[in-house]
Amino acid sequence: MAMESLGVLLLHPMNAYLEQELDRRFRLFRFWDSPPDGRAEFLRANASAIRAVVGNASYNADAALIDALPSLEIVASFSVGIDRVDLPKCRERGIRVTNTPDVLTDDVADLAVGLAIAALRKIPQADRYVRAGLWKAKGDYTLTTRFSGKRVGIIGLGRIGLAIATRVEAFDCPVNYYQRTKKDYPSYTYYPSVVELAANSDILVVACPLNEQTRHIVNREVIEALGPKGLLINIGRGPHVDEPELVSALVEGRLGGAGLDVFEDEPNVPEALFTLDNVVLVPHVGSGTHETRQAMADLVLGNLEAHVLKKPLLTPVV
Ligand code: NAP
Repeated sequence: MAMESLGVLLLHPMNAYLEQELDRRFRLFRFWDSPPDGRAEFLRANASAIRAVVGNASYNADAALIDALPSLEIVASFSVGIDRVDLPKCRERGIRVTNTPDVLTDDVADLAVGLAIAALRKIPQADRYVRAGLWKAKGDYTLTTRFSGKRVGIIGLGRIGLAIATRVEAFDCPVNYYQRTKKDYPSYTYYPSVVELAANSDILVVACPLNEQTRHIVNREVIEALGPKGLLINIGRGPHVDEPELVSALVEGRLGGAGLDVFEDEPNVPEALFTLDNVVLVPHVGSGTHETRQAMADLVLGNLEAHVLKKPLLTPVV
């Protein structure tokens, strides 16, 4: 079957190269071309043509979208996390689902380590100090906290978690982890609960998928266990952390600091965080390099082509 016959609905303008190639190789529908109040009508009008959906970490094939697309055969996500795809519904309808694992692992792990160092050494804060002319006006910058040797606790020692572990080993950081399955890693210490992991770590990193078991996996109890000298790094998903609890712990000094790439209600970030000197905030950029986004796009395109050619999908989830 010809590639051009595959109607692909791109949910959001997520990557110029991806959009251009989808347009060149398939029959592309841009969801944002129709105004929000015209989308139901747009879906009705194109329901028989749209057989594929391309979403990402923010916009994906939820129950309502899947229900509106009776000809849907495949959801190819431009992300590894597929928490916004209604997987049970896809299984029920026989809709295939693919994601973009592995190609983004190094970048997300790099960012996790970068956020930890930036937060402890206050790199963005020190940068602001120089830019504001305060070095000249006030003199030396305040002392900060060492990163090397700190105990790093990782929630989810999967592809990204393991890449974080190997990186921080080079900084002489002991590695602890929590996940459902204990693995035979001789140099990493397993804790059977997140609270125990937090109590035995200086830095807690969230690197697991978001699902019903991991929503608010970092709650008040975990934050208390991490403590006033502890640092929380979240490169997973915003809802992994009970955000109001995190904000009040940071404001009240019950948690030492945080480095956050993800938030509960993106792009809304609690304004109480903006005035704090112990947090580093970045706008969900874990996989956001030219190199990785291109590789992710190629995986999305490769999965769609394999689907049309009835070949094995490159990175199937369902
Ligand atoms: P992965 O290889 O599937 O690893 C996930 C790990 O989490 C596994 O080791 C798994 O171990 C653990 N896990 C699963 N369910 C758990 C639970 N209920 N409680 C505790 N641990 C659990 O996934 P990955 O490629 O490393 O990606 C991880 C996540 O990172 C993605 O799902 C995505 O949400 C996030 N991510 C964020 C960005 C960003 O831009 N910030 C970029 C890429 C990915 P067990 O099965 O043994 O529990």
